[in-house]
Amino acid sequence: MALSIDSDLCNGCGKCIEICPYGGVELKEGKAVLNDRCTACGVCIDTCKVEAISSDIEEKEIPDFSDFKGIWVFAEQRDGVSSRATFELLGLGQSLAQKLNQELSAVLLGYEVDHVIEELKAFGAQNIYLAQHKLLTHYQTNPYAKVISEIIAEHKPNIFLIGATTIGRDLAPRVAMRLSLGLTADCTELTVDPEDGSLLQTRPAFGGNVMATIKTLYSRPQMATVRPGVMEAKMADGPAQCRITKKDVSLLDKDRLIKILEVVREKKKGVSLADAKVIVAGGRGVGSEEGMESLFSLAEALGGEVAGTRMVVEEGWLPVESQVGQTGQTVRPELYIACGISGAIQHRAGMLGSRYVIAINRDERAPIFEVADWGIVGDLHEVVPTFTKAMMDRRAKQGT
Ligand SMILES: Cc1cc2nc3c(=O)[nH]c(=O)nc-3n(C[C@H](O)[C@H](O)[C@H](O)COP(=O)(O)OP(=O)(O)OC[C@H]3O[C@@H](n4cnc5c(N)ncnc54)[C@H](O)[C@@H]3O)c2cc1C
Repeated sequence: MALSIDSDLCNGCGKCIEICPYGGVELKEGKAVLNDRCTACGVCIDTCKVEAISSDIEEKEIPDFSDFKGIWVFAEQRDGVSSRATFELLGLGQSLAQKLNQELSAVLLGYEVDHVIEELKAFGAQNIYLAQHKLLTHYQTNPYAKVISEIIAEHKPNIFLIGATTIGRDLAPRVAMRLSLGLTADCTELTVDPEDGSLLQTRPAFGGNVMATIKTLYSRPQMATVRPGVMEAKMADGPAQCRITKKDVSLLDKDRLIKILEVVREKKKGVSLADAKVIVAGGRGVGSEEGMESLFSLAEALGGEVAGTRMVVEEGWLPVESQVGQTGQTVRPELYIACGISGAIQHRAGMLGSRYVIAINRDERAPIFEVADWGIVGDLHEVVPTFTKAMMDRRAKQGT
């Protein structure tokens, strides 16, 4: 694809220059011209009010997908224990299914996993595609991708959602590739376009500096992986009515590329931020590893966990699993106390689901205050110990 600008039509307004993320357009003698940084992404075309920019690609006709129906969620489980991401996706799936008036299904693969069915029902699955086979006992890319691709080809869903977990990030592109589908990875928001009912898939782009919303125009199902912790797990409202659609699995030894000899679980070290009700998070403003001590004391007083920004992890003040944000964990505590954190978009991406946010920062213009329910402008080295003491005194009074 190549772009061209008709200089007779161009009025030199500069809108295309502002929107181009690559610096691929510039103004010469009052007219916009493309330079060698243009990637022909086409983002400028719609901003040109005088229609001076065109591409040599003819608009492809969008196929009729009316026979693709239903919202599907991959029911990830390990050793018969469902992942949290599964319930979060079912929570999201319930609202998408309601908006589109389509059925919500879970796709469950494994071996002797019948007990998982009840949980999937409770979280709103109206149908479960169930595939059981010894070779599906532990997750393996090839057998899982093969079986899921077959179920999709047979039943034609409209939307297929997978958690952006370690397994999901491996599985989703394999399925998309096998079926020549589009895939939007690591979404943080999914809604339905009220105009045409298609799925609007939002994810950070350009190094997290902008949020891009993507539509899958030319293939079905619309496939997306969703960051764990972003959506809310929600039990179904009414009594669970659920069909089971069994899939006959024919897997042969040659369908697996690896043979699992033994499963050795790594001992989980560090904190469990995913389940924490209170998180005390530190940023560069904490100043040092020793400075983190006061955050640990506050977390202890509140029965919470300590987390941090990428800066804090890079400084070595906290381990990497404590990082909250776009490239760290996504958390949803009841209370998030941000201490000495500026509130960069990449950090906010990981904590916006918190119920309440308290920000402590000595700069009253720090962006973290935009997302805080309560803001304290001050030195955290004074505020945090005062806060901790007040909590400890209160606990002592209550005898807890
Ligand atoms: C692709 C990409 C991915 C990223 N992913 C992540 C991510 O997952 N998580 C993440 O956190 N960041 C991430 N970042 C980095 C992010 O852009 C910011 O640089 C980072 O979040 C800033 O960390 P900070 O708030 O600790 O530090 P700063 O931005 O330096 O802010 C420090 C704040 O502390 C305040 N302060 C200083 N001293 C005190 C004091 N004594 N008392 C009170 N306040 C004080 C200052 O006013 C300031 O607001 C990513 C960046 C990129 C490009």
